[in-house]
Amino acid sequence: MPETVLIVEDEPALQETLAYNIQKQGYQAETASNGRTALEMARRLKPDLILLDIMLPELDGIEVCKALRRENFASPILMLTARDDEIDRVVGLEIGADDYLTKPFSMRELMARVKAQLRRTQVIREELNKIKTSAPEQDTLLFDTLSINRTRREVILDEGVLALKPQEYDLLLFFAEHRGQMLSREFILERVWGWDYIGDSRTVDVHVRWLRQKIEKDPATPTRIVTVRGGGYRFEG
Ligand code: CA
Repeated sequence: MPETVLIVEDEPALQETLAYNIQKQGYQAETASNGRTALEMARRLKPDLILLDIMLPELDGIEVCKALRRENFASPILMLTARDDEIDRVVGLEIGADDYLTKPFSMRELMARVKAQLRRTQVIREELNKIKTSAPEQDTLLFDTLSINRTRREVILDEGVLALKPQEYDLLLFFAEHRGQMLSREFILERVWGWDYIGDSRTVDVHVRWLRQKIEKDPATPTRIVTVRGGGYRFEG
């Protein structure tokens, strides 16, 4: 799968040129023309890199960058600046950008920076994969900032150990082992609580609610354990 680059630029001609050049390099190009759409697309598409203009309608690039970093968005962000005072803001503030380019820039220069950033991401990913595959028999299941160690029955989130009740742990592990699959409440109940458990599928809902409070950034809008309408739940990682 080609890597995805989200281009956030409100000037149509430049946006088009950027998209054209990104695609020419074999990447998938997605475009946004304002800050709000950019945020929404970044969350939804999880691009491998973002080219982010600073002067944007609705929400400027600096706010977009800060918001994404607060949400632990990990991909590189390359800022595009038009004026000197913008450079000062990018360089002087801890906004979490990886690199910046001053307009006007050459496409060649831009593509060199894009490639450098994506290569770095690739190296990190390979290292993570090595760590994962060298672990004995997938002792640890890793979902970005969430890791589950089966031997120790230990769950770590953002480097802190989570205090989970035994049933919460069993439920989370069951979800993790069936990542991406729609699991009905009945199936979960049967597999996690067992045939002889006296209870109903609301037990599952209650435990999912508790788990969400512990592992979701925003339990009201869960991204790890999502509700499947008319079905049950799906663990997204
Ligand atoms: Ca602009």
